[in-house]
Amino acid sequence: MIAHIKSPKRSHSETDSQVRATVEGILGEVERRGDAAVRDYSEKFDGWSPNEWRLSDDAIAKAVGELSHGQIDDIRFAQKQVRNFAQIQRDSMLDVEVETYPGVILGHKHIPIDAVGCYVPGGKYPLLASAHMSVITAKVAGVRRVVATAPPYEGAPHPAIVAAMHFAGADEILVLGGTQAVAAMAIGTESIAPVDMLVGPGNAYVAEAKRQLFGRVGIDLFAGPTETLVIADDSVDAELCAVDLLGQAEHGPTSPSILLTNSRELAEATILEVERQLAILPTGPVASVSWADYGQVILCDTIDEMIQTANELAFEHVQVMTQDPELFLARLTNFGAMFLGPRTNVAFGDKVIGTNHTLPTNKAARYTGGLWVGKFLKTCTFQRILTDEASAEIGAYGSRLAHLEHFVGHGEQANIRVRRYGSQPDLP
Ligand code: NAD
Repeated sequence: MIAHIKSPKRSHSETDSQVRATVEGILGEVERRGDAAVRDYSEKFDGWSPNEWRLSDDAIAKAVGELSHGQIDDIRFAQKQVRNFAQIQRDSMLDVEVETYPGVILGHKHIPIDAVGCYVPGGKYPLLASAHMSVITAKVAGVRRVVATAPPYEGAPHPAIVAAMHFAGADEILVLGGTQAVAAMAIGTESIAPVDMLVGPGNAYVAEAKRQLFGRVGIDLFAGPTETLVIADDSVDAELCAVDLLGQAEHGPTSPSILLTNSRELAEATILEVERQLAILPTGPVASVSWADYGQVILCDTIDEMIQTANELAFEHVQVMTQDPELFLARLTNFGAMFLGPRTNVAFGDKVIGTNHTLPTNKAARYTGGLWVGKFLKTCTFQRILTDEASAEIGAYGSRLAHLEHFVGHGEQANIRVRRYGSQPDLP
């Protein structure tokens, strides 16, 4: 039996229509009025309307100069881990060229997308880690032009975000946030050349803007407000569970965190422990709203019920702290990233360990994994035929199949090959 020991008060769909309409309005205005609209919205939402959004080399050097050696070392350490894993993933993506039928060669090759816009969130926190995740990964894939943008933080470019974008290899660094930023990059304005693809996480406005712009540009995935699912049994204690729930709940007031357990004792103890920690956590005021509105504690009788529930939730982050975490790796099919055992956790993945933190939310994990080097590569196929016999033989099949579909022109494309390269007279 599956029981809700703590239920959520709200679901995400309640806010969707308002966000949708706001985003639609901003995209339309940027389309019509270009830079002027971007400036107006930047002023309205971020109090930010400088003459130039693009940072000069001097401004970048100044930002880097504001960081201590220790801070730079930490950023470089995290970037090295992300670059290393992205490169290993890139190396695993092999081009293919193979004879699939006598005389017939089929293949595919991976071609980097030419220009990409990377959104680095910065409304509530200067989320510099997102620069590692998108800019480095794009560069490892071979993207020629990487534009990175983040909103101003407390009225100015945040030095650590700028430094992270720069060390990651961004070709252009903009200081712009929200829908106006992704609109400017995707649609293009007088001052910003359009990109081919938008990537990166963001709040509900950023995620919705990417959704509405999809088609006009590519997008990585639907990476909205963060979610965390802690799967635990009585092999761990309530303190660890509560820390891991609140560590993500502090992202924003709409970030769900859920404990899924087969231990009633752990479920009840965690609820008390969350309240205790909320009272002392400096980000408690935000985390307490998301915990009250979206937090859940779900109690299952069996491991099978836990697996079924986790797969239905299809959460972005899944932290497994049970006696046998590998069982969940083997049997969960819907998740963005999994953190196995109590020694690791979502914050390691978010900040430093090397896996990508831009991950699917809002059940998008049913159909996609997170951002990775493969998202920046187009897998394009090619083919050639080496012999007259193969051309005539495949052409004869093609002609008959085109005829079945009433495609006369297609059939003629095949027939002419059969006539020129083969000796079969009786084509339809
Ligand atoms: P953000 O940079 O995503 O959004 C800030 C921008 O939102 C502002 O620049 C502003 O222009 C715009 N905005 C704010 N209020 C608005 C309004 N009423 N109308 C129109 N635009 C408005 O920063 P954030 O708000 O701190 O959110 C970051 C988000 O990124 C969080 O929700 C976090 O959970 C999420 N995140 C997701 C992942 C993932 O992989 N899914 C990873 C990291 C962060």
